Amino acid sequence: MGHINRDSLSHLWQTHATLQALRERRSLPMSQVPGCGGCEWTDFCNGSCPGMAYEMTGELNRGNPHDCYRRFLQKIDAETRRATFMPQHPEKGPAL
Ligand code: SF4
Repeated sequence: MGHINRDSLSHLWQTHATLQALRERRSLPMSQVPGCGGCEWTDFCNGSCPGMAYEMTGELNRGNPHDCYRRFLQKIDAETRRATFMPQHPEKGPAL
């Protein structure tokens, strides 16, 4: 990306193509991010850290699989999901 003794971090942040692409990913709606189409959480999810997504997938325009809510819910079993997200006392509302 640069050389710490020669280039300012500000200059690199503003001009380096990879860093520009990482910043621009934040402006892309999650419904248009590859791998996120059809996800019911796109209105609430920002894909987490784009740098981590890049580190884990090698692609800039991806949600961070480590923090993907859909992936998490698919992995946990129904009993864990019910115990975690369903109210224990429905008449009082969800346990917070
Ligand atoms: S929950 Fe996962 S699949 Fe859904 S928008 Fe977020 S990162 Fe994408």
